[in-house]
Amino acid sequence: MSRIYNFSSGPAVLPLPVLEKARDEMVDCQNSGMSIMEMSHRDKIFDTLIKETERNIATLLGVPDSHMILFMPGGASQQFAMIPLNFGLGAAPDYIHTGSWADKAIKEAKIVGGVNVIWDGKADDYMRAPAPSELSFTAGAPYVHLCSNETIGGVRFAEFPKTEAPLIADMSSDIMSREIDVAQFGMIYAGLQKNLGPSGSALVILRKDLADRCPDSVNYFFRYKTHMKEPSLYNTPNTWAVYIVKLVTDWVLENGGVAAMRKLNEKKAGLLYDVLDSSDFWKPCARTDSRSIMNVTWRMGSEELEKKFIAGARASGMDGLKGHRSVGGLRASIYNAFPLEGVLTLAEFMKDFEKRNG
Ligand code: PMP
Repeated sequence: MSRIYNFSSGPAVLPLPVLEKARDEMVDCQNSGMSIMEMSHRDKIFDTLIKETERNIATLLGVPDSHMILFMPGGASQQFAMIPLNFGLGAAPDYIHTGSWADKAIKEAKIVGGVNVIWDGKADDYMRAPAPSELSFTAGAPYVHLCSNETIGGVRFAEFPKTEAPLIADMSSDIMSREIDVAQFGMIYAGLQKNLGPSGSALVILRKDLADRCPDSVNYFFRYKTHMKEPSLYNTPNTWAVYIVKLVTDWVLENGGVAAMRKLNEKKAGLLYDVLDSSDFWKPCARTDSRSIMNVTWRMGSEELEKKFIAGARASGMDGLKGHRSVGGLRASIYNAFPLEGVLTLAEFMKDFEKRNG
């Protein structure tokens, strides 16, 4: 077996012990004589599994009783569409525009009704997130939406604003990478495929009282209250995804929880930003105060040099470093499960590459 250092932005690297356990249990999960994928979602084993997974998430993130944990189909993109349907049909919500993913959320909300884009990072090429002091909210707006970590730009909120209206955050690419105060948010959601598990499903943490705001004009399936009534089981959930999230959250707990993840993530990102700041050879993208600790983005002197870098890195056992097709450049995605050794290897490769090409 040979595993490469996988810098993919998502679906992304999973902890090796998680993959090994899933492999070992693939054909016989907990002596049931079947795979978790072959088992009814009403089975006792799955019922226990999903409850334990929710408990792990509640423990790791400090989810208060006021909020409910749900697994939902459709990834984060479905949430972009559901949020305005559930909470934004009466009045225009506030959206903070920090980049590509915030933009997709805004586009979905615009289909449903008016949107107040209360901050737009265009003037800075979407290379920074606003400080809370830069924001002013619209009186009567039903909610405020932001993307905590822009996966493509490598830009994150260092601090979240305090809002009167429920704050809704797309945390797809930094959930469980740093401590958060869940009570500050009306809703948090995340596609699973970066820090939690496989793609195609989303984790939703919703303040329970908000679910009643959805009007009856919305289809049952798209109402949060439908999915809350029979938690995560209104439709047959992706049982495999829940199973992997259980293993991943077990792994996070065994490795010291979210605080330990954050410390290690800061260390890993710091190693790369140190190289990027060491000379003009490197052109880091995100503004210093908004730098992501999950997605480190940079450019180089020419596209030719960038191609050479990517090819050289690949030949040295590192893949996934090409920036998103919409922006180009380089991006190292270093989620919770990405090993420190891989970051050290990349940092050394960068220094060596500079010596040879600088
Ligand atoms: N939001 C962010 C911040 C993302 O990074 C992504 C996917 N990369 C999405 C939303 C969309 O997620 P999905 O593909 O699961 O719908």
